Amino acid sequence: MQAATFPAPAQPPANLLDMDRQGLRAWFARRGERPFRADQVFRWIHRRGVTDFAAMTDLAKALRARLQEEARIGLPEVVARHLSPDGTRKWVLRLADGNAIETVYIPEEGRGTLCVSSQVGCALGCRFCATARQGWARDLSTGEILAQLVVAHRELGDTPAGGRPVTNVVLMGMGEPLLNYERVLPALRVLVDDLGYGISRRRVTVSTAGVVPAIDRLREDCPVSLAVSLHAPDDALRERLVPLNRKYPIAELLAACRRYAAAGPHRAITFEYVLLEGVNDRDEDARALVRLLRGLPAKVNLIPFNPFPGALWRTPPPERVDAFRERLLEAGLVTITRKRRGDSIDAACGQLVGQVLPRHRCEARLPAQARS
Ligand code: SAH
Repeated sequence: MQAATFPAPAQPPANLLDMDRQGLRAWFARRGERPFRADQVFRWIHRRGVTDFAAMTDLAKALRARLQEEARIGLPEVVARHLSPDGTRKWVLRLADGNAIETVYIPEEGRGTLCVSSQVGCALGCRFCATARQGWARDLSTGEILAQLVVAHRELGDTPAGGRPVTNVVLMGMGEPLLNYERVLPALRVLVDDLGYGISRRRVTVSTAGVVPAIDRLREDCPVSLAVSLHAPDDALRERLVPLNRKYPIAELLAACRRYAAAGPHRAITFEYVLLEGVNDRDEDARALVRLLRGLPAKVNLIPFNPFPGALWRTPPPERVDAFRERLLEAGLVTITRKRRGDSIDAACGQLVGQVLPRHRCEARLPAQARS
């Protein structure tokens, strides 16, 4: 008797943006295709921004047809484009499930920085951040993280000199990248891959509120530049501003930073410090910060608070910002004040909101002891 044959269950097409080069090679290998074919497709997508398989002209016709059946390159829809007078651009990207995220491009003399989101909303609940107010809906997939680069390159075109406009990438958009480690890691690998975006590790920055175990993993897996949102010189104040501090207090965080700096591509760790008037901007706070960072290979990035509707905090006057910076400089700490870019289009640090569906309570994903 002949065995009944059933059609193989149809696999949904795989999103090739979800894979780093290793992953893509493995996917090709499972289809009996050679690794260099995967490399070719990888280059088409990430080096040349081509997402139509039919246009990948150095692939055999049969392979192109197969890719069209079994693979896809998932891109979000650009639902809004904002251009600030200072040249900063913000795109609002609608994801397949209706959520929206924001991506910001900041052009500067000789470089262009793309600020990329890693989650829909954020679960950390930092008190001074507009994204936190939105709550957290879900992690972004690797493909949704990398799609922000594909879209930005498509929107920006080549530079006048013919080069690519994105020279630096910072994971400083919506979300906490190190709470989405499994998806962020392959994306980082594609960013630094020579056949991908080919961006040097120093020019790729992960910013974290201080997820200590993930800092250690990143050091091992893909050391790129690290920025840490410190914002306060002691645990009592930091707990009020950054609830995650209850789980990973400053001493543990700085110990992880020391380990990272010993291995990372940049000797120095960048410490971000949002200046909130009357809260953490006094001279004594600056002196405490100096004591705290003594002996660490540190740079400080001061971010005068960027307001958003309903925020209770105030931005210190410029003289206060300068005086605070002066205290750090006197002590030999490399300190810059982050220029406020894109403020008029709500694209500055802490102003990104997107559209977060459904809204979870802030801190919903924090371990119990870290909740307020
Ligand atoms: N979750 C990561 C990535 C966000 S990066 C992190 O915490 O590092 C965005 C940076 O902007 C962080 O340093 C964040 O603390 C800071 N920020 C948030 N809200 C801000 C605001 N209203 N004004 C200025 N900086 C803000």
